[in-house]
Amino acid sequence: MTAPLPADEVAAGVTTWLAAFGEALAAGDSAAAAALFTEDCFWRDLVAFTWNIKTLEGRAEISAMLDATLPWVQPGGWAITSGGEPASAGGVTEAWIGFETAAGRGRGHLRLRGGLCWTLLTTLDELKGHEEHRGPSRPKGVGHRADPARTTWLEDREQEASALGFTEQPYVLIVGGGQAGIGLGARLRQLRVPTIIIDKHSHPGDQWRSRYKSLCLHDPVWYDHMPYLKFPEHWPVFSPKDKIADWLESYTKIMELNYWADTEATSAAYDDQAGTWTAHVERDGEPLVLRPAQLVLATGMSGRPNLPGFPGMDVFRGDQHHSSAHPGPGRYRGQRCVVIGSNNSAFDICGALWEHGADVTMVQRSSTHIVRSATLMDIGLGALYSEEAVASGMTTDKADLVFASIPYRIMHLFQIPLYDQMRERDREFYDRLEAAGFDHDWGDDGSGLFMKYLRRGSGYYIDVGAADLVANGDVALARGQVDHLTEDAVVLEDGTQLPADLVVYATGYQSMNGWAAELISQEVADQVGKCWGLGSDTTKDPGPWEGEQRNMWKPTQQEALWFHGGNLHQSRHYSLYLALQLKARQVGLPTPVYGLQEVHHLR
Ligand SMILES: Cc1cc2nc3c(=O)[nH]c(=O)nc-3n(C[C@H](O)[C@H](O)[C@H](O)COP(=O)(O)OP(=O)(O)OC[C@H]3O[C@@H](n4cnc5c(N)ncnc54)[C@H](O)[C@@H]3O)c2cc1C
Repeated sequence: MTAPLPADEVAAGVTTWLAAFGEALAAGDSAAAAALFTEDCFWRDLVAFTWNIKTLEGRAEISAMLDATLPWVQPGGWAITSGGEPASAGGVTEAWIGFETAAGRGRGHLRLRGGLCWTLLTTLDELKGHEEHRGPSRPKGVGHRADPARTTWLEDREQEASALGFTEQPYVLIVGGGQAGIGLGARLRQLRVPTIIIDKHSHPGDQWRSRYKSLCLHDPVWYDHMPYLKFPEHWPVFSPKDKIADWLESYTKIMELNYWADTEATSAAYDDQAGTWTAHVERDGEPLVLRPAQLVLATGMSGRPNLPGFPGMDVFRGDQHHSSAHPGPGRYRGQRCVVIGSNNSAFDICGALWEHGADVTMVQRSSTHIVRSATLMDIGLGALYSEEAVASGMTTDKADLVFASIPYRIMHLFQIPLYDQMRERDREFYDRLEAAGFDHDWGDDGSGLFMKYLRRGSGYYIDVGAADLVANGDVALARGQVDHLTEDAVVLEDGTQLPADLVVYATGYQSMNGWAAELISQEVADQVGKCWGLGSDTTKDPGPWEGEQRNMWKPTQQEALWFHGGNLHQSRHYSLYLALQLKARQVGLPTPVYGLQEVHHLR
């Protein structure tokens, strides 16, 4: 075993690299800069260089990106940032860095191997001259002087709210006021971008309120914070859905968002000449036209139910609904319930129905990855998002950047060993599950839950107890494809009849560009293509390789149209980069997009 390098030697290695890198960039020498990377290198850029979310792989891609961007990015000031002293382990040195560009200030993360850069993360943190007014530059809240024309904070807020959308147009219209729209709206407010968030529900948080009664977040509290306002320390680890809903409602108020509830967007069209959208909305039933420059669809990645069209659904006499419309288990005591699907929602719903005395059958149509919640917390998330991580000085902000620093092309290599450990730890559990006939997988390459989420957004269950019900037969398991429904049963292709009073279709959700088809046109939906997925060429994530998630938080093939969403972690982190892209456009900064994604899949 090699002895660890002394700290000053590690820091000196990083300083030397940064100096050489900074010099090459200042000289506009892309080839010299690229030569400071290993052959198998990655540079992930979140808006700082590319005005895009983009990963460059290998020296040639880095050199080409620098050729195109250096003249206007003009980077400099590369330095190790305080509080994140470089550390070396296993031949890799890691360091936190800061830098500046002509437009803004950035933060980044560096991994060096043998004196060369293996992975580089660069992120835009703020725009020069357009910083958020916080800390020392926070607003005073009052003018300490005698002023007969004085208006109060509340009067100013009311004046703003009554003008925006009527006598003044918002620069950004966010359609969808779930956590994604709210978080982005909060960031845009701090950046002083006039924004309206609309939602067809009556209150912020209603999307969570309307979900099945037993739902609690499957991710732990440290992973779920909204921007700016963290959950208090007594907040439960796994937040019940109605608590999240109330938090979002309060957040909207505290952050003073221009949030229009009971407002539905009915259509939108972009005028290339004018550079504005014409968005038709109905507010409290009254039609209204908004003309924002930018349109963000934050309408939910789990918002467009993927409802199957099985023959016989029209003759079935019992209750049937998609999981998103499941009212909860109360009314199904003693009834025969068939849940089609075997991922998160299916397990949650089966568990709650069983707890309420229903006779439950789960229909598994394809394999599912299951990981036990406690195991996932300990092995998968613990180092970054846990009480222990907080105690060791890990902040949410830093954890988000560590996560972002791992390029998607190699992320599975970091994940596979973790899932190998999980498999060992819970071997007895998996044996029981498989003995019950459950078709379990670990992802195409053994990389587990998070890669499945990034690649296809489905195909897994974080076990919070219902898997045991399947393993021990309390919830019956049927495997196979649904052939049709009769008046009172689900019939599988092999002829198996599953008598049913209730059928729940826990069959997932459609791609977010479907929202664009609904609201704008099929043509625009096809022009931007599928949202989500990495192009990993694994199940439900067809290639070619994209390197980043399709269409999320970055420019699309439709001018001034953006998609925002994901889980709470992603919504929080990526809302910063989306907000900065929008702010830059609002104040007229040049924002040449490098490497705008091509469209390979329509849905
Ligand atoms: C059962 C379930 C469990 C989940 N558990 C977790 C978890 O544990 N952790 C986690 O991080 N994530 C979880 N998620 C995923 C994700 O966090 C949620 O789906 C979350 O609600 C997404 O937030 P969002 O703001 O992107 O979209 P949504 O919450 O779906 O909000 C979209 C909003 O858009 C509105 N809207 C749509 N069309 C229009 C229109 N034309 N006009 C006006 N308004 C419109 C809707 O009314 C809705 O309120 C879960 C999802 C589901 C379905």
